[in-house]
Amino acid sequence: MIPDRRTVLAAGAATLAGVAAPAASAVAESGARPLFDLAAVTIPVAGENAVFPVRRIYCIGRNYAAHAIERGSDPNREPPFFFQKPTDAIQNVQVGVVADHPYPSLTTNYHHEVELVAALKSGGSNIPVERALDHVYGYALGLDMTRRDLQNAMAAEKKPWEIGKSFDHAAVLGPLHPAVRTGHFTKGAISLAVNGTVRQSSDLTKMIWSVAEQIAKLSEAFELKAGDIIYSGTPENVGPVVKGDVLLCRLDGLPDVSIRIV
Ligand code: MN
Repeated sequence: MIPDRRTVLAAGAATLAGVAAPAASAVAESGARPLFDLAAVTIPVAGENAVFPVRRIYCIGRNYAAHAIERGSDPNREPPFFFQKPTDAIQNVQVGVVADHPYPSLTTNYHHEVELVAALKSGGSNIPVERALDHVYGYALGLDMTRRDLQNAMAAEKKPWEIGKSFDHAAVLGPLHPAVRTGHFTKGAISLAVNGTVRQSSDLTKMIWSVAEQIAKLSEAFELKAGDIIYSGTPENVGPVVKGDVLLCRLDGLPDVSIRIV
């Protein structure tokens, strides 16, 4: 029996019992009672009886030159740009399991984007690049799933991307691996196969902005905090999936992550 996301979240919430979330602290101070319970969103930590509580999900756009070109921009001239997904869009995927991933509503062009994900244990504003990796707790392998038709339609009208990027289950990822064990990811092959055929294949060295540079740039716009995670962009050859497809994500140094579109 494969635990679904709800089970994983419930386990995470139980583990975190006794740790007051910021919202809960404010409530306690005011003496008011919450009208209902909200499950904490967490990511399992590989090899440890611990979970990583998630505060925000940031994503960087067009961070590999060949992908920037396929999306119609010039990789040499544009500064990095970021968007967010809602925290509860996370779908945790266990190692060794092909997790069911629901094909979302409203789209007929649902795309895979395999990405390295960095998770922060601390933060700040205007973090210098040289200190940026000190804030990284660990890394995961993930998918920035995208309703491409809706994203493109909104972009064409200069409207926000939310409906294309920020829906339920849109932030797929495997367990976190502490950087103290894996080291920091600055190079290594990253790939995605659909039904056994490799579609995306690149190397982290081809990222335009490194994880350290992403943290530095993000911290100019937002005060970063422990619990923030960053999807670091996808290589070229993003493309559509349909129900029944099995996606296999690979990154040198981390276990594979796999989902089936259902
Ligand atoms: Mn992406």
